[in-house]
Amino acid sequence: MELPQAIEELKVEYLGDSFAIAEAKKIAVAAIEKQIPKPVLVVKEGLYFFCPCCHADDEEIRYDYCVPYDYCTKCGQRLDWEKREYIDEWPH
Ligand SMILES: [Zn+2]
Repeated sequence: MELPQAIEELKVEYLGDSFAIAEAKKIAVAAIEKQIPKPVLVVKEGLYFFCPCCHADDEEIRYDYCVPYDYCTKCGQRLDWEKREYIDEWPH
């Protein structure tokens, strides 16, 4: 099963689901979503890189500002360095 399909399966609410199960499913969906690579954010001016999820800066997503990590060290988001998303301003 691919990750996006697993997410869809977990999002289905069943009649017998307790509150705890519903909460556990939300946590599982959030954890799986972090495993799906997202393009890093790049500010056009100056080529500064940011995590697409928590907006952590270069220090958190590249070793010594040059070797890209596969995951953000702050939030755990898997990073896609091939598909960069260019933005005009620094993310907030
Ligand atoms: Zn992050």
